[in-house]
Amino acid sequence: MLSFPAYQEKGTSVEEIINGFTGFANKGASGAAPRRGRGESERHEPIGFDDDVLAAIGEKDRRWSWVEIDTSAIRWNTMEVKKRLHPGCRLMAVVKADAYGHGAVPCAKAACNSGAEYLGVATLDEGIELRKAGLNQPILILAEPPASSIPLLLRYGIMPSVYTSEFAIAYAECADAHGLMAPYHLAVNSGMNRIGVRWDQVMEFMMQVSFHRALELVGVFTHFATADCPDSIDFHMQAKRFVEAVTAMHNAGIDPGIVHCDNSAALLRYSETNFDMVRLGIALYGFHPCPETRNMIDLRPAMSVHARITDVRTVPMSEGVSYGLNYRSPGSVKICTIPVGYADGLRRALSGRTSFILDGQLCRQAGNICMDQCMFEVDMRSYGSRPRLNPQIGDEVTLVGSQGGVSVTIDDMAAAAGTIQHEIAIGFSHRMPRFYR
Ligand SMILES: *Cc1c(COP(=O)(O)O)cnc(C)c1O
Repeated sequence: MLSFPAYQEKGTSVEEIINGFTGFANKGASGAAPRRGRGESERHEPIGFDDDVLAAIGEKDRRWSWVEIDTSAIRWNTMEVKKRLHPGCRLMAVVKADAYGHGAVPCAKAACNSGAEYLGVATLDEGIELRKAGLNQPILILAEPPASSIPLLLRYGIMPSVYTSEFAIAYAECADAHGLMAPYHLAVNSGMNRIGVRWDQVMEFMMQVSFHRALELVGVFTHFATADCPDSIDFHMQAKRFVEAVTAMHNAGIDPGIVHCDNSAALLRYSETNFDMVRLGIALYGFHPCPETRNMIDLRPAMSVHARITDVRTVPMSEGVSYGLNYRSPGSVKICTIPVGYADGLRRALSGRTSFILDGQLCRQAGNICMDQCMFEVDMRSYGSRPRLNPQIGDEVTLVGSQGGVSVTIDDMAAAAGTIQHEIAIGFSHRMPRFYR
């Protein structure tokens, strides 16, 4: 039991004792003049700081954690995929969710400069962001947005996926009123049961909407539920249904436009379904959608995550570290802290299950990952020729990426956290600034 003599003798509160001890108590009350900048009235506008000088303090110098995106990897992955497609097959770069956390605008630019001719997003605002950044490729929202957003679709020239006649008619009427066409892609549900017109009701749907002169069918697509699964029976079932729907359109004299269905896994594993366009998401960022694609294509991860050590300590044997004190020091380690936590996307489920790289050596993350910080252990024993580490405040640590021949990948993290790479990559939050090279 800790003992606070003052608490026992005088009955004062623990806070008062701690304040007295650390000097945080209200010194102003003792009669000394408050220093400039610390008094209530002046706190918000201390003088003598030049705004330009303040603005020049870079993001890495404000908090020692950041994400780097290698746009040459995005370009490499785009070209590697593009050269596998038959001539004339278009490549859609799927840059939804801020390009899976990599930054929509720079990634869309890199992809479009290396062979992508279409852009896919999840929301209207994601499309508008690309338009405002000057990207003028066709943009498809991979869902049907609310009908209330139709004027924005037309204003920015962003195509919706369509699967309800109500939306189709409202879209066509708004376009017509402005003397515009209403271009769209028809979403077909071939078995995933997320969005779309059922594959065997496509003709019925087309009959319902075809009277409208402004509607312009630019493409027809479906999405696979199991393209990344070892078994291909369900995949082939969906593909067959989709082909049936497209064939029915052809037979009725309807031009389906751009026919597309493949995501990353499907476009690599089943080239027979590449059709007129493929939708490249996760592989654009350098991740393999499943183990089966590993020996099919050389992909380069674009994202790496970095931090600098903010504290270093020796923790005696069996003392605990972090919330819960679950990690216990083996005594032969130094414990280092970095300013990255689960609020930055370093999933708490990875506590004790991931490693960081310091000076080309893997160091195990130690203790529960906190909201804004976490710790790792540096083994201070020397083995053979392995150089002994000497961690210092300010030293750079790699959380994701490679350094000196060792690497930690988002694939490793996803496996350790029991999820897919998409979720880990998207998770690295914008509290960590992005740097592009
Ligand atoms: C997200 C998405 C994609 C891209 O999928 P990946 O597996 O990341 O390649 C393709 N099509 C649709 C409809 C999507 O929602």
